[in-house]
Amino acid sequence: MSGARVAVVGGGWAGLACAVELSAAGVPVCLFEAAKQLGGRARRVEIGGHALDNGQHILIGAYRETLRVMRLAGADPERLLLRLPLEIAYPGKFSIRLPRLPAPLHLAAGLLAAAGCAPGEKLAAARFFHALRAGGRDPEDDVSVAEWLDRHRQRGNLRRFLWDPLCLAALNTAPDDASARIFANVLREALDGARENSDLLLPRADLSRVFPDAAACFIAARGGEIRLSRRVARIERPLAIAGENFAHVVIAAAPRQTADLLREHPETRETAALLDAYRFEPIGTVYLAYPDAIRLPSPMLGMSGPIGQWAFDRGRLCGADGLIACVLSAGGHWDEHGDETLAAALHAELAETLGHALPGPVWHRAIRERRATFSCRPGLTRPTPRTAVPGLWLAGDHACAGYPATLEGAVRSGCHAARGILAKNG
Ligand SMILES: Cc1cc2nc3c(=O)[nH]c(=O)nc-3n(C[C@H](O)[C@H](O)[C@H](O)COP(=O)(O)OP(=O)(O)OC[C@H]3O[C@@H](n4cnc5c(N)ncnc54)[C@H](O)[C@@H]3O)c2cc1C
Repeated sequence: MSGARVAVVGGGWAGLACAVELSAAGVPVCLFEAAKQLGGRARRVEIGGHALDNGQHILIGAYRETLRVMRLAGADPERLLLRLPLEIAYPGKFSIRLPRLPAPLHLAAGLLAAAGCAPGEKLAAARFFHALRAGGRDPEDDVSVAEWLDRHRQRGNLRRFLWDPLCLAALNTAPDDASARIFANVLREALDGARENSDLLLPRADLSRVFPDAAACFIAARGGEIRLSRRVARIERPLAIAGENFAHVVIAAAPRQTADLLREHPETRETAALLDAYRFEPIGTVYLAYPDAIRLPSPMLGMSGPIGQWAFDRGRLCGADGLIACVLSAGGHWDEHGDETLAAALHAELAETLGHALPGPVWHRAIRERRATFSCRPGLTRPTPRTAVPGLWLAGDHACAGYPATLEGAVRSGCHAARGILAKNG
């Protein structure tokens, strides 16, 4: 295996997962990252002396590959992630919490005790859970999440406060536009199987510490090389980057950058066109820094909008007392507002959610990721990890068929490409 060097283009979670898997198998890796730091869309940013994230992230217990690769790289999920039973709370309006009971009792008990929804909604939801658990190919045709929920008679507050927010959180695509098939896959992974799959895992450290920092150390300790601030402009044939030969090249960039690298090879032009047609959805994270004593009743709280979806207490999570991260997902019109207006609106929404006045934030900062995720629509065709050019592979959240744009999709795709290379190398 030695000498068969592999280039990984892109140091987001997909590229890092791929490089970690290959390094663990003794394959020499050279990772090229265009930015000054690793992590891609899930990384640390320094704001006001705090180590924050370019976007507040949530993981769930069903992220099995992410948890496995974190452990492999030496990042301990038990220390770095706060594990909580799934709880969605909109104070005074709705709440559901899945208790620590064996599956599927946790679903039944959680639903029975849910507050803020009518008994008829609970019954319809129980039937829906049952249909989900029964598996099969529901939905048979890939329709929108809204249509699928209509078919299963999911209405009222359960839809407004449970299914719609879960769809936005998991697919970052509004229910009217989102793929029911992908949403069903996520729900099955989270709600079917072990109870732990549905747990929320909230980062207790900045995202770079959760995986990229440990991955970089792991790769370097096994003789791999990481080249930062190195944008790859072309992949040459036979496989080489700037005249340096590689046995395999894994492109682990986001869809647009991947298309740029694929377009010039006749065999991969079709895949480039496929990725060029992707649409994207934004996510905003607005940090509101309150006096240290301000705390939320739980680490994560639902906001019933119209602008904010979730509020996270970074004090409870990472020790940044008084700092609240508000998440604004796709489908809203928040991106039309300036930072001041957004911060003022979210401050008011937070006070309304909590049911009491709050002192004004000491500072605020908005981070807008305009291409946070691909738009996860019905019938979206996804590229396969293996390309038509021998030795050229794809990773990245878009290359994980059946899964939305998430950390888990990125990690799975990276592991998939690595396994393909290892199988080829025999
Ligand atoms: C604000 C926000 C919130 C999110 N919230 C969640 C969440 O709660 N839960 C969840 O699971 N997911 C969430 N996601 C999605 C998740 O972050 C992404 O799905 C995941 O990080 C994608 O990883 P990736 O490695 O596929 O791509 P990227 O992170 O985009 O990594 C690609 C890397 O390739 C580099 N690159 C590109 N072109 C080149 C080139 N030519 N040469 C060298 N390097 C190159 C880029 O600089 C980048 O570092 C969120 C995303 C955002 C932006």
